[in-house]
Amino acid sequence: MIPPSVAPLQQQNWQQCLRDAVTSPRELLDILALPANLLDDIEAVCRDFPLRVPRPYLDNIEKGNPYDPLLRQILPLTEERLTTPGFSLDPLEEIPANACRGLIHKYPNRALLITTSACAIHCRYCFRRHFPYTENSNSRAQWQQAMDYLSNHKEINEAILSGGDPLNLSDKHLEWLISSIAEIPHIKHIRIHTRLPVVIPQRITEDLISTLKSTDKNCIMVVHCNHGNELSRAVITGLKTLKDNGITLLNQSVLLAGINDHADTLAALGEKLFSAGVLPYYLHLPDKVQGTAHFDISEAQALSIYRELQAKVSGFLLPRLVREIPGQTSKTLVHEPVSGD
Ligand code: SF4
Repeated sequence: MIPPSVAPLQQQNWQQCLRDAVTSPRELLDILALPANLLDDIEAVCRDFPLRVPRPYLDNIEKGNPYDPLLRQILPLTEERLTTPGFSLDPLEEIPANACRGLIHKYPNRALLITTSACAIHCRYCFRRHFPYTENSNSRAQWQQAMDYLSNHKEINEAILSGGDPLNLSDKHLEWLISSIAEIPHIKHIRIHTRLPVVIPQRITEDLISTLKSTDKNCIMVVHCNHGNELSRAVITGLKTLKDNGITLLNQSVLLAGINDHADTLAALGEKLFSAGVLPYYLHLPDKVQGTAHFDISEAQALSIYRELQAKVSGFLLPRLVREIPGQTSKTLVHEPVSGD
């Protein structure tokens, strides 16, 4: 049940928020009082990967500050057009693991479903910005092939809904997907990776909660939050509502140069997440995808930040520092967390 404190969230429909997202570079500069001379560069970059920012997210960005850590996540920069050695279009080698339309099977016990190509926000560091979504978009009939794959692979006990962003789907479609997966006896966990609760908190509705509670499988939501400023009051209220309704909440952040590459920033993020009922789970080194080299952090820098973070937070607030290496059977731990107090 949605508590009265969430009622204001319902006043603005989440689908309306999706439709109203800012996609015009000129409008972005106007709203955020940024210099107009950035316009030509932004427009050129947007031809490859368009701008998209939901207005509730924009509300958390400081006007007139070109270095705001939330702005840097959505602002197209000319650096995206550079070709950098060591960076590729498919750094995680997901395409060879594309077992059938809409399904990636990289790790033995879990399979990832590309539920949609659409995202509420376009994160400039996105590791799937070059992913062949058109070859992975499924109609309901085409999903049967993915469901058959899950049924036939008894070693898979977890289905991960990914995308794009699975919460971009209507509740009806989401419920259909979840119930189809839930019919497969050996699937124990259904995990949803999403940025929607962070960028459009209006997405947390009674209908969504009913959908998530409609299965007796373990339902885990991994929200993708990179900075404490993303956790507005509305976001925190929405997350707490999910938690109060029995949804396990974890967070995965990407360690991004110029955005959250300081131990204090990460410590503040962990505390704020915890107060919203979310456990910091993964801190990812950025994947080496073309167009994102300006966000990159070396392993040595990451470890140095991580050691500092370890000294600042309790063990339960320390995410695992990981990177993804193609061909490995799991994410690779860059550093083992020491046991906390
Ligand atoms: S929400 Fe995820 S998939 Fe979508 S643009 Fe951002 S990082 Fe990429």
